[in-house]
Amino acid sequence: MMRVPGWEFIRRKFSTIRMRVTLWYAFFMTLLIFISLMMIRELSVKAMMSNQKENLIEIVRDGIKDVNTPGEFDYFDGSVYLLVYDENRIYQKGVIPDLFSVTQPLSHQRVQSVEAGGEVYYVYDQFVERERGSFWIRGVTSKETPDPTWSFISNVMSVFMPGIVVVSCLIGYFITKRAFRPVKKIQETAQSIADSNRISLRIGLPEGSDEIAKLGGTVDHMLDKLERSFEKEKQFTSDVSHELRTPLTVILTESEYALTDAQDLDEAKESLLVVRRQADHMSRLIHQLLFLSRSDHDALLLDKEEFEVFSAVFEVVQEYRILTEIDGTTISVTNNAAENIVIEADLVLFKRSLSNIIQNAVNYGKKGGCIEVLISQNEGYVCIEVADDGMGIAEADLDKIWDRFYQVDQSRNKSNGNSMGLGLSMVQTILTQHGGYVEVESTHGKGSKFSLFYPFC
Ligand code: ADP
Repeated sequence: MMRVPGWEFIRRKFSTIRMRVTLWYAFFMTLLIFISLMMIRELSVKAMMSNQKENLIEIVRDGIKDVNTPGEFDYFDGSVYLLVYDENRIYQKGVIPDLFSVTQPLSHQRVQSVEAGGEVYYVYDQFVERERGSFWIRGVTSKETPDPTWSFISNVMSVFMPGIVVVSCLIGYFITKRAFRPVKKIQETAQSIADSNRISLRIGLPEGSDEIAKLGGTVDHMLDKLERSFEKEKQFTSDVSHELRTPLTVILTESEYALTDAQDLDEAKESLLVVRRQADHMSRLIHQLLFLSRSDHDALLLDKEEFEVFSAVFEVVQEYRILTEIDGTTISVTNNAAENIVIEADLVLFKRSLSNIIQNAVNYGKKGGCIEVLISQNEGYVCIEVADDGMGIAEADLDKIWDRFYQVDQSRNKSNGNSMGLGLSMVQTILTQHGGYVEVESTHGKGSKFSLFYPFC
């Protein structure tokens, strides 16, 4: 196939919506102007024809007045020929148009169309009755007499039409260029983001009520959200690597020590104990991360079953009562809900969510303090509240405690480095997966209350 130079460029140019809108606009404008001119032409031709006939009749009537006045009668006035016949319809005098036959039958006061020598003439005859002798007067005019209106329109069409087309194209081009400027900005911004990986770029269209301004606003809003989630993802990855690096470094150091520097078996065992503790920590961390990652990808399968809330809560509380016996912390359980109230949930996850909350109440509670667990029900939810009288959480931190790896202050924790800042994030995920939610109320220095809301039918 023969390649025309620049064809690809032209093809690309003309495939843009802007160019197509321009061409459609120019096409319809030209069509409209053309149709208007054609209509004007039709009307003017009609007007011209009736003008011509009226003019012919008028000249014939004027001729009747002047026919016997010497010097006044004119047989040809530039467009109408006048012929005089006697009362016996015999041609007497006048100017005869080329190839027109004087024997053409006369017809009183009627405009006839007569063809002669390939030309069409309008012919008007009038019989004039006079005492001194009656006569006929005939007016003949060529039907093809050029009409000034029509020639003007022809000129407009032939001279101005290309100009009109060009002007329509230019107007269409500038209108669409203006209208499509925001689209270009959106496309350029998207291209820049793709080229530079800078998701912080924004389109920044001025606010408006048209569709493109709204689209620009929506895309910017979407970019805001994406940027935030990328930031979170980045933070999460760096936190994960940090959390894994610390125990891994300890494991490497301790195993190196056990292998090379340990003096006896006891020293080596001590190092191995540290290694096992750190490996445990890593295993728990990985386990929790896997759980969160599965729930992020909606791959968390709930093994739902019906169980009595009170007994499930009581079992968890009992475990913690044993664990906290030594430091004198008391844990009380009150049931304000209907007796033997049953919910359908994943029992393991239910217990895990409650354990996390009670574990936090222990970790951040007062030594020898008091933890109150309260079960209640309202509006389709069973609520399990866990209140402690510990250090509480500052208002500024209340929103952040749900973020992964967020810890208000690690030194506040009594769990000897076992906390990872993932517990509340997991609790929130478990509740969300069950169609429930979790709330917190806290007063810094006085204590906190976490409430788990599980739906029940
Ligand atoms: P962690 O493993 O650090 O306990 P969590 O996600 O369970 O992680 O909790 C996040 C942070 O919220 C904790 O570091 C702690 O500062 C704060 N927090 C959670 N529960 C309590 C509580 N009952 N009292 C005070 N602070 C709490």
